[in-house]
Amino acid sequence: MTIKICVLPGDGIGPEIMEQALRVLEAVRGDGFDFVAETALIGGCAVDATGTPYPEATSKLAKDADAILLGAVGGPQWDSLPREQRPERGLLAIRKELNLFANLRPAILYPELANASTLKPEVVSGLDILIVRELTGDIYFGQPRGIREENGERVGFNTMVYAESEIRRIGKVAFEAARKRGKKLCSVDKMNVLECTQLWRDVMIELSADYPDVELSHMLVDNAAMQLVRAPKQFDVMVTGNMFGDILSDEASMLTGSIGMLPSASLDANNKGLYEPSHGSAPDIAGKGLANPLATILSAAMMLRYTFNLEAHAARIETAVKKVLAAGYRTGDIYEAGTRRVGTKEMGDAVIASL
Ligand code: NAD
Repeated sequence: MTIKICVLPGDGIGPEIMEQALRVLEAVRGDGFDFVAETALIGGCAVDATGTPYPEATSKLAKDADAILLGAVGGPQWDSLPREQRPERGLLAIRKELNLFANLRPAILYPELANASTLKPEVVSGLDILIVRELTGDIYFGQPRGIREENGERVGFNTMVYAESEIRRIGKVAFEAARKRGKKLCSVDKMNVLECTQLWRDVMIELSADYPDVELSHMLVDNAAMQLVRAPKQFDVMVTGNMFGDILSDEASMLTGSIGMLPSASLDANNKGLYEPSHGSAPDIAGKGLANPLATILSAAMMLRYTFNLEAHAARIETAVKKVLAAGYRTGDIYEAGTRRVGTKEMGDAVIASL
């Protein structure tokens, strides 16, 4: 299969980490996988070149591609621009245009990096969970919304709203993901006080009839936030709405303590996806060859798994990353005494050598 990848390196460390991810994809070419990559501008570099963070040419390439691989956007030099021209607007625009409603964020803590977490190593070592967050609905987009005057004071209001079809489509993504992993799905809601999330729970239960091989459980969001720090290894896949997912996915990513290790995927209804590291453009280390490329390399592995069903190729990359960590290779962000400090390119070299 020859797939078309739209490559958007972006700003800061984006180009450096993307280069390594593309080298790794080159190295796993074959056995039913081939690709062409076309590069375009997004974020601050796009503002500088064209005046807008998401130029028309980028939009066209992204729409035509089978998947998009993105580095990171942003930097202090663009922080004073009007809101519409900020680099982050480019990200919002591409997510909206491609209707990427499902956000998948794994939080994996490799045993070798257990000391990077602020939790006790025995609580987090070997952690491997996936948070599936709905990305285009909920209280973030619901109408009516605003701030109005009432009885002589200001009143702020938002609307939490989910249509059955929106819950069903994110539920399907989560059940399918659980099927590819440990076959356990925990749906997170607040059905004891919010009718909207009572519907969420009802639809998840209805959907579970189609996935008899996946064990479905439910948890209230306040308890889920506690359980994530108390005993996170009880979870396999968690699915939740936009607002709860925003908070829980950041909480889960911090369990690992290593932002340079965490990939993410945002999918549409046909599993076309945008794949990117969870971290930002790290302007403090940009251009120095110090950035950890593993989150971007692991994002490329997720792309092979979720958009192209190339499970063996994805697993090959993930196994190589585990081997490299076990062999003691570390970029500065995950460095500990007694390990071998390497730069961005050497880390890419080590992964390729371990494939
Ligand atoms: P950041 O994630 O860029 O950096 C936070 C810290 O983590 C920094 O010390 C940085 O050096 C380090 N870090 C991040 N990724 C690393 C990597 N791969 N290897 C080694 N160290 C790494 O977050 P920030 O500093 O809050 O934001 C910087 C810029 O990135 C801002 O302009 C922000 O808007 C943007 N940003 C973009 C995205 C995105 O593109 N998706 C996400 C978050 C922030």
